Amino acid sequence: MIVAMLETATEDQIQDVTDHLMRMGFAVHRTTGARQSVLAAVGRRIDFDTRDLEVLSGVEKVHRISAPYKLVGRQFRPHDTVIKFSNGVEIGGKEVIVMAGPCSVESREQLFKAAEQVSKAGAKVLRGGAFKPRSSPYTFQGLGLEGLKLLREAGDAHGLLVISEVMEISQIEIMLPYIDILQVGARNMQNFNLLRELGKVRKPVLMKRGIAATIEEMLLSAEYIMSGGNYDVILCERGIRTFETYTRNTLDISAIPIVHKLSHLPITSDPSHGTGLRDKVAPMACASLAAGADALLIEVHPDPDHALSDGAQSLFPEQFEDLMQRLRMIAPAVGRTI
Ligand code: PEP
Ligand code: MN
Repeated sequence: MIVAMLETATEDQIQDVTDHLMRMGFAVHRTTGARQSVLAAVGRRIDFDTRDLEVLSGVEKVHRISAPYKLVGRQFRPHDTVIKFSNGVEIGGKEVIVMAGPCSVESREQLFKAAEQVSKAGAKVLRGGAFKPRSSPYTFQGLGLEGLKLLREAGDAHGLLVISEVMEISQIEIMLPYIDILQVGARNMQNFNLLRELGKVRKPVLMKRGIAATIEEMLLSAEYIMSGGNYDVILCERGIRTFETYTRNTLDISAIPIVHKLSHLPITSDPSHGTGLRDKVAPMACASLAAGADALLIEVHPDPDHALSDGAQSLFPEQFEDLMQRLRMIAPAVGRTI
């Protein structure tokens, strides 16, 4: 950690900060430049808040050098995590895995149609929400247990793994018999009690980036799951809130290579929620693949114009097939298969 002192800091203030750092267990090295003094604090401690130091008299800025997370970082595991499923599918390896399906499970007919369409086009995982986090309490909230059963049936009928969102702790037990990957939604990325419980589960968790979360906060949330002993965590960039209003969210594609540099965990891109607009999904999916995404999560509906949720960002099945063709052309150019 580096503590930059103000130009106006007195010798007493510098000594006070030095003593404070030493009491925290750091070895302190001081450099005095032409303008200001800088203290380099060296040690293993990570369980502190840099703001506690920034409020000390004479301090200008504190920069943390060592990352605040451990298990999700490359220092802990230098090689990429590859999550293996019993049917041979791997997430985090050379093959880019496409997860596709409707935003919500609406009916048997809708889901079976979607499963058939996405599996025919080459998806390996069927998505569909059974418990839905909706912005309005008056909109469709999901079919619950019935939706989970339909997902399992439709997935099995078409050789697909299934992913669905878990919104609260009490749903974990209900979901485990039916679901292969538990999805944590953007709104729950900092529901730390839920994350801790998912740390006890022995099934992969796909955790989405929060609507206003930094990459570091996303990695720290993944650390909650891993610190409970569940190392099968898949991260997901799904767009963040910015000042831009043209798209529903701003898909932060740069998060993909940044996460790959900092962490060994696989990262998915969700261009559906990332843009909110059907015609922007394919270009952003292609860009995500080129940027290094290990998986793509894409909303596809047999009849998007009548979808009960997220119809405007759901692809028509033919559009999904086209997109898969394009992805197959791009993958080899970036050393991947699909
Ligand atoms: C979803 O995947 O349908 C969903 C609700 O996503 P998010 O949590 O990213 O909004
Ligand atoms: Mn959705």
